[in-house]
Amino acid sequence: MSCGYRMMCVWLRNLKPKYHGENNKSGDSFNKCLVRELQSLILKEVSDSCYGCQVDHPSQTQHDMCLLTDSDDQTDIFLISAIRKLDPYQIMEEWYPMLHTMVLDDQEKLEAVRLWEHFKNKIRFRPAGSWLEQLKIQVKQAWE
Ligand SMILES: [Zn+2]
Repeated sequence: MSCGYRMMCVWLRNLKPKYHGENNKSGDSFNKCLVRELQSLILKEVSDSCYGCQVDHPSQTQHDMCLLTDSDDQTDIFLISAIRKLDPYQIMEEWYPMLHTMVLDDQEKLEAVRLWEHFKNKIRFRPAGSWLEQLKIQVKQAWE
């Protein structure tokens, strides 16, 4: 078994609590990485759609998108496009230090592959439903 495959399986095992709504330390850690990555993508979406940011305007009044919306509004507006740009592998990389402490059996590996496909599909094709609402709340709560 390749190291990359094993890494992915272990990572996916800890995705599970997120989907089943259980409280799990590792799951929370993964979620933190996910939320942090989404916030940075949302901020990029904001500046990409802000006239002042686009032309690097010195006057704050030209920054319509930066000024007229707060973090919660920005989350509402840009979360879906941020999710579409999210790279699941990048989160895995960030979360890598957690992975060495866990062990998988065969059943968990199978489950891991299933969850991996599920997660990628959610990210890439169908960001909707309670999963999206949950994520939105988490992102909003994490703004400082
Ligand atoms: Zn701006």
